[in-house]
Amino acid sequence: MDQGSLLLHFARNGAFGPGGADLLVLERGEGPYVFDSQGRRHIDGLSSLFCCQLGYDYGEEFAAVASEQLRTLAFNTNWGTATRPAIELADKLAGLAPVGPGAKVFFTCGGSEAVEAAWKLIRQYHLANGEPQRTKAIARDIAYHGVTLGALSLTGVERFKTPFGPPAIDTTHVSNTTIFRTGKSEAELTADLLSEMEEAIEAAGPDSVAAIFAEPLQNAGGCIAPPAGYWQGLREIADRHGILLVADEVITGMGRLGHWFGCERYDARPDVVTIAKGLTSAQVPMGAAIVGEAVAAPLYEDKATLLHGVTFGGHPVAAAIALRNLEIFERDGVLENVRAQEPHLRARMEELRELPIVGDVRGAGFFWAAELVKGDPDRRFDAAERERLLRGFLPGRLLEAGLIARPDDRGDSVLQIAPPLICDGGVLDEIVDRLYDVLADAGRFMGVVGESAAVA
Ligand code: PLP
Repeated sequence: MDQGSLLLHFARNGAFGPGGADLLVLERGEGPYVFDSQGRRHIDGLSSLFCCQLGYDYGEEFAAVASEQLRTLAFNTNWGTATRPAIELADKLAGLAPVGPGAKVFFTCGGSEAVEAAWKLIRQYHLANGEPQRTKAIARDIAYHGVTLGALSLTGVERFKTPFGPPAIDTTHVSNTTIFRTGKSEAELTADLLSEMEEAIEAAGPDSVAAIFAEPLQNAGGCIAPPAGYWQGLREIADRHGILLVADEVITGMGRLGHWFGCERYDARPDVVTIAKGLTSAQVPMGAAIVGEAVAAPLYEDKATLLHGVTFGGHPVAAAIALRNLEIFERDGVLENVRAQEPHLRARMEELRELPIVGDVRGAGFFWAAELVKGDPDRRFDAAERERLLRGFLPGRLLEAGLIARPDDRGDSVLQIAPPLICDGGVLDEIVDRLYDVLADAGRFMGVVGESAAVA
């Protein structure tokens, strides 16, 4: 099957169809499994791009919620009016978000929009404080913050950016928190990263920087955790320079790391957080920028107008579904499940290190990556080898194994998993067992068969 008239996102659109690759067309879901148009069953080891936190068994319940809302009030905007589900959801999120009491919530339709809404709210804050010159941002290498033109400025993957001209936001990219290969202790890494951040701010001009953007645990590059003290250091630097700190929780938010927000795990205290994906468990699109009380305060001053809006932001059907999603998290112990299963998943993922092609295993919660190397951490795959391995071999082999996982080389070569948060130990075993087999075959395919292996 090819894709007909459909343009596939971040895909080689000409690759599918007769004589080409097998396009995976998904038709239905059940628990952590999805079934394709040929009736094959796959474990959704990626929660449909980090979105389907609850897997696929809650359709009836969400359908009832959507049906009720559609019959009552299908739509109204948040442009100077409101709906009950949007107000209730904002209150709920304000109570959960790690930005202190009195948080305010701006709804969007996805993650890139959430990041851009955060940026505009931040700009309005600085303007209201008499600091219009704060127009710059700091973000991190390889980090992905979205690809609409504002968010793209913050994204640190050069090849996604260069075709589209000068960035909308003047952004300096600093090192991410990768510890693998550095030979540093966590304390040394933290100290080096914080002094690099300080230098970047000095170079940009401390009073011209509006915000620092970072994910609690960075996705692109392969589940890169912060070293101890990093987020506390960022907080201190941001405070000292009057800069706002943003935690982009589009992936880590809503349970991926076993907490409502990934910030909780690292005791991070941002001024602003962005969420999307898991907010509705992707039953419908929705995102949000959540700002602390102080950031929102100027918006409540006499005649101040929030100069941003998206028609569908806070759509009542999406809000009603998000509310039920959060209710299900509480009712069915979803965060508790992630926390209870994490040690098991971690131990199983660590087994992958037995394979010479696996140089590192890293992650947290239900979010893990194996970094792929040529039998030795210092021997990375080059561009031609990555093409063979990540775009040639792995997609087909994963398909054959009935496992959805993500080969990626925005940074180094990794294979990532992010299982639905409802998976029990048995399903997690099934995922890691298949991953093991696929990677063992990948090693053989690439000629990485022993410690002294040379790549074919
Ligand atoms: N921020 C982060 C951390 C993300 O991972 C993503 C998408 O994966 C985005 C922003 C952009 O979200 P969206 O694709 O919904 O626009």
